[in-house]
Amino acid sequence: MGLAGRRRVRPVGDIVMQDYIAGLPKAELHLHIEGTLTPDQRRDFAARNRITLPDDAFIAKTPTPAAEGQSPADMAAWSLAEFLRLYFLGLETLRTAEDFRDMMVAHLRNCAAENVVYSEIMFDPQAHTTRGVAFEAVMEGLLEGRRIGREFGADSNVILCVQWDRSPESAMATLDTAKPFSDEIVGLGLDSTAVGTDTSDFELVYNRAEDEGYRLTAHCDCDIPGAAQRIRDCVEILGVERIDHGINVLDDPDVLALVRDRRITCTVCPTWRIGDPGPRRITQLKAMRQAGIVVTMNSDDPGYFASRTMGNMVSEINRAGLFTEAEIAQFMVTAFEHSWAPAETRARHVRSVHDYVAAFERPSHG
Ligand SMILES: [Zn+2]
Repeated sequence: MGLAGRRRVRPVGDIVMQDYIAGLPKAELHLHIEGTLTPDQRRDFAARNRITLPDDAFIAKTPTPAAEGQSPADMAAWSLAEFLRLYFLGLETLRTAEDFRDMMVAHLRNCAAENVVYSEIMFDPQAHTTRGVAFEAVMEGLLEGRRIGREFGADSNVILCVQWDRSPESAMATLDTAKPFSDEIVGLGLDSTAVGTDTSDFELVYNRAEDEGYRLTAHCDCDIPGAAQRIRDCVEILGVERIDHGINVLDDPDVLALVRDRRITCTVCPTWRIGDPGPRRITQLKAMRQAGIVVTMNSDDPGYFASRTMGNMVSEINRAGLFTEAEIAQFMVTAFEHSWAPAETRARHVRSVHDYVAAFERPSHG
């Protein structure tokens, strides 16, 4: 029986439940390392690199859109565009391999503190190389950071993302540049805004990445125009085995069936912004799970959202009461099982979740 089929762990107080979530071994499959930069880190990197940027580069959190006079689609479009503007501005504070290493180590230290024992971490090389930062410096820093993270128990793999809103030629050139590091990069992703782009433009890039041994994923952002069709195209044309976000499978029964039957993993991000009442997209997360979709929960860009890092976010989702503790544990099992870690690593982490839950259920606890 899956964990979620078990009874509720026990009728416990909020503090014990928060302890339970804090100690639960966690995995995250959808996180942008540049999106982990807190305002303080952005300020520190800008200062040490003597870079002057507009104040927006150091903004605390992505704002919510003004609802008045706007359709939900307009609000989603504004929200994504404004987020991306701040995200790409903030990452301009990064210049050297040391910056990338320090950013990675800071993030992984937090993972270790929150028992996020395994993460798949995306990075956006085009946003760096086009500013004159060498791809090698980015990789050197990230890989050194990853090595240090492993020493303190925060294991990770990196996913190279190319951008929907840059040309397929530029994506192909990025794959060329990445070639010497391809053994150290587990997958290829597509992020930034897909609005106005044609999925089939990236078909050759994805074919080649697959030939070179990359696992394949792509962002299908929430509620963008044609979102469900975009998901279908990413599966059928690009051959992805994972969709980042993907909540719009719920808009179209055929797309939902496609994603369910092919066991495509959807990495949903129930993040929230200042001004949001609480975790967003958890009803969709629940509906996707109930529809038999392989779905995980992820923090996306913790430096820019009020939901912050995985530990905090999962704890608040638990508090929202839509999922039992056993269901939350099952989300982590799903994330470990569908991660791109080696089979033995996946199995070990899945066992650790089961052992953790079993230990918590024993009457001797507390
Ligand atoms: Zn993302």
